[in-house]
Order: sequence, then structure tokens, then C-alpha cells
Amino acid sequence: MTGWTLGIETTAHTLSFGLVDADGKPYPAASDTLRPDEGGIHPREAADHHKDVAAELYAKVLEMHGINQNQLTGVAYSQGPGLGPCLRVGASIARGIATRLDVPLIGVNHCVAHIEIGRQQCGCRDPVLLYVSGGNTQVIARLNGRYRVLGETLDIGIGNMLDKFARLQGIPFPGGPKIEELASAYLERCPNPTMEGLELPYAVRGMDLAFSGLLTAAQRLVENGTELDAVCWSLQEHAFASCVEVAERAMAHTGKSELLLGGGVACNERMRTMSNMMANDREGTSHAPPKMYCIDNGTMIALLGFLELQNR
Ligand code: AMP
Ligand code: MG
Repeated sequence: MTGWTLGIETTAHTLSFGLVDADGKPYPAASDTLRPDEGGIHPREAADHHKDVAAELYAKVLEMHGINQNQLTGVAYSQGPGLGPCLRVGASIARGIATRLDVPLIGVNHCVAHIEIGRQQCGCRDPVLLYVSGGNTQVIARLNGRYRVLGETLDIGIGNMLDKFARLQGIPFPGGPKIEELASAYLERCPNPTMEGLELPYAVRGMDLAFSGLLTAAQRLVENGTELDAVCWSLQEHAFASCVEVAERAMAHTGKSELLLGGGVACNERMRTMSNMMANDREGTSHAPPKMYCIDNGTMIALLGFLELQNR
């Protein structure tokens, strides 16, 4: 291929346009996330948001990197998994641009895009992906020529759990970063914490996970008068340890030695530290891409589209 590949991400509350050049080198995305004043994401409202800001963001990403749309030689969009109304908006924007420019259009898998940007950014070869985002919590690895989901949440995504817990305390979306701040503040205040009085359910079921019981129990601690920063610390410890445990089981089962983090919750330093500890204990390695490529972004979609078009 000779030109640039555009990637359009619309699986949930973020609309994002990203680019890779003719060598597959990634360029930062132009993104906008719907942040509801109250409650969670309504799929139709998110889709309307994406429609409203699409033209402006598309122009912005081209301008950011000084390119003209005639230099695009492929258009990729996230085909799933995601919210139906949001996916439809992304697919129709992508189709419109590809048809107008008469370039190939390709739909790609959002989870695999997290793996490919991580492999490229971190230089790992054949990792187990611990994909921890708002709506998704999955452990994925490539076996016998295909990516397979080895374990996943049985109820809500870890990020949604953190966001919902935060919302119950009046903390606006996204709650994950604020919970991280509060947990760190607790460690400053109480450098040698124990779980006494802060126990929460720990839901690993074979290779699967669950978070709704954890959410309810953490909220109960707050209602019973436990300090919020202490609960945030315990909530992170329980939730992250369960994810890392399933990832470790997957590494043991597949014989792989690389762990790769992806998804917005992979921005969390405690999650990164726990993953490093586990991987080091197994004489393996843990990797996490730059934060702008952990959260949902159009660049990873462009990269996977580029790779798939190249290998067609
Ligand atoms: P994504 O769905 O991959 O775009 O990621 C969004 C999710 O990542 C939201 O649920 C955020 O609360 C969460 N998130 C972002 N930064 C952090 C952080 N530092 N710690 C924990 N969660 C985070
Ligand atoms: Mg994602």
C-alpha cells in the first residue's frame, strides 16, 4: 500500500479517528467521548453523539497530521463487539468515506485491534492479552492460528464496575482514574494496610470473573461508614488481583510467557504493577502500551485494518 489507512472506532461511548502511514506507523487519534451527566451510556444517545461530532473529528485528525483525504488508501472501522447503534454509525461513516474516495473498506475486530497495537508498541510477539476496559473484561490468546477468549467476565466489565461505584459516590465518569487517586491517597495515609474490615468478595470462577457482587459489597462498606479511600484501595486490590489470576492461569495453560495489557483500566498503575509482579514470578514479561493506545482509539483500528488489507 502506498498511502495512509484511516481507522474509525465507535464500539461504545468514544468516537475516534486514527491513522497509520504506509509503513503501519501509528499517529495519535482525534477522539471525543460522550460523558452523560447522570446514569450510564444510552446506546442511542451515544450513537447520536458520534453522528454529531464525526465531521469535525475527521477533519481534525487529517489536520493534526497534515494530510489530505486523497492520501488515504484504506478505511477501517470497528465491526464489533460493541453497542449496535454505535457500530452502525461507525460503519456508515466508514462506508461513506471509502466509497467517496474509492478505496478499500474493512471491518475489524475491536479486541484484536487492542492486541495488535500492543504488540506493535511493546514489541511483544505472542502475548496473552488481559483486556480490561469499560464494557469488556477478557483474557485472549492465539491458539492454533486463531485468537480465542480463554476467560471473561460473567456479568459487567471491570471499568463499568469502577465507573458505577464512583457514580454512587457522586464522582463523574470516568470513575477509574479518581478511584486510583483515592487508593493512592489511602496508601499515603496508611502505608501498611491490611484487609481487616475491608474484605470483599473475590470472584474467580475457573477462567471467568464476576464484578457485580464486588460492587455491591464495596458500596455496603461505604454505607456502613468505612472511609472511601480505604474502600477504593480494597476494591482495586480485589478486582485487579482476580484479573491477574485468570491471566496467570491462561499463561500457564497456553505456555506463553508474555502478558499484554489493553483497555482503559490498563492505564492504572496498580494494575500494571500487579501484572509485572505476576509475570516476573513466572519468569515472563508484562507489557502495556502508552495510555493513549490503551483506551479506545481509532489508531489501533487503522493499524489492524492496515495489517488485514496487507495480508488479503
Ligand atoms: P475503554 O472502555 O477501554 O475506552 O476505557 C474506559 C474505562 O477505563 C473506563 O471505565 C475508565 O474508568 C477506565 N479507566 C481509565 N483510566 C483508568 C485508571 N487510571 N484506573 C482505572 N480505570 C481507568
Ligand atoms: Mg476497548
